Amino acid sequence: MNIHEYQGKAVLREFGLPISAGFPALTVAEAVDAAKKLPGPLYVVKSQIHAGGRGKGKFKELAADAKGGVRLAKSPAEVEAFAKEMLGNTLVTVQTGPAGKQVNRLYIEDGSDIAKEFYLSLLVDRETSRIAFVVSTEGGMDIEKVAHDTPEKILTFSVDPVTGVMPHHGRVVAQALGLTGDQAKQIGKVIEQLYSAFVGKDMAMLEINPLILTKQGQIKCLDAKVSFDSNALYRHPDMVALRDETEEDAKEIEASKYDLAYIALDGTIGCMVNGAGLAMATLDIIQLYGESPANFLDVGGGASEEKVTAAFKIITADPKVKGILVNIFGGIMKCDVIARGVIAAVKAVGLKVPLVVRLEGTNVEEGKTIIRESGLNVIPADDLDDAAQKIVAAIKKA
Ligand code: GDP
Ligand code: MG
Repeated sequence: MNIHEYQGKAVLREFGLPISAGFPALTVAEAVDAAKKLPGPLYVVKSQIHAGGRGKGKFKELAADAKGGVRLAKSPAEVEAFAKEMLGNTLVTVQTGPAGKQVNRLYIEDGSDIAKEFYLSLLVDRETSRIAFVVSTEGGMDIEKVAHDTPEKILTFSVDPVTGVMPHHGRVVAQALGLTGDQAKQIGKVIEQLYSAFVGKDMAMLEINPLILTKQGQIKCLDAKVSFDSNALYRHPDMVALRDETEEDAKEIEASKYDLAYIALDGTIGCMVNGAGLAMATLDIIQLYGESPANFLDVGGGASEEKVTAAFKIITADPKVKGILVNIFGGIMKCDVIARGVIAAVKAVGLKVPLVVRLEGTNVEEGKTIIRESGLNVIPADDLDDAAQKIVAAIKKA
């Protein structure tokens, strides 16, 4: 689960991190009020969307040469003008995709005088089973590009969970960023606090880009991207409360209501499968035959007819879906339950695209009979390979 920058900064502030003063705003009036509460003379008006690259982004509704989603204002009047241009408009960044994201919230922050911009992030390193730091002098830039072009400018190390962050980690980071004296002390404290926040809130990723050194010699977190480990959210109801569903895929929200493991993808073939492994294999084989899956969906082991119906409805409601492949290997899941769920969904919402069904395993004959007798226009398939070829052929014909 991701949260907005201003929410992430509030969490980091709890852990003592140096964050500029700022206030969220949902309306132009709130943005002006926020600016009046700040000391000035520099204000930052920041679009709050769950995507990075806002500074270099473009608003669809504004002229091509208009400034992006993070702007520096010199007065509350300028904050007002920028807020009017941002709120309700669609910001397109390298991370949003061409459709962009509507800006519904702003964050008005006390502006900093930047001397240097650095990059710093924490993530779970699966190789070492530890939390790793990624540090670079090249802040405010696309870190993937830095990693590709100048990998020597990136420092990574992981932290032993028994000791946590140690003074020597601080010295290594200070050296990598060219910080000495009081600034080295500040950075040591910052990485300790970031580590505490990461562990304390069960984060999956914490990215500060940029971490800055101000002209006054202060280290500050100027941006914050926070995402949480979904499996640990039950321990953090206060973080769950920060969820902004308008930032999430509507289909995924609907799926989560039914406890379905559903992930929206970009392709054209909707998939309903049981078991994560079989679901992954199904995505691969669709790709092998030259098409792309529209989603990952594991209906799980003991899914009810109601759950199957909900899953099928989510797939058919996706306008990108040009064909559907149901691939069930019934173990605990029963083929007749799948068949009834599919038919109930088709009765409720209709079926406008080709449907290939491959059923195998528990109650397979009963499942096949139910589908045959329903009069549904279903293309039956014998195995995974056959099913994938048939759905790819069917959408090419349609
Ligand atoms: P992102 O583009 O979505 O990553 O948004 P950021 O919060 O990282 O802001 C983008 C850029 O705006 C930063 O890299 C800075 O160069 C600039 N910026 C943000 N806040 C301030 C500020 O307080 N003062 C100044 N001078 N520049 C800022
Ligand atoms: Mg940034």
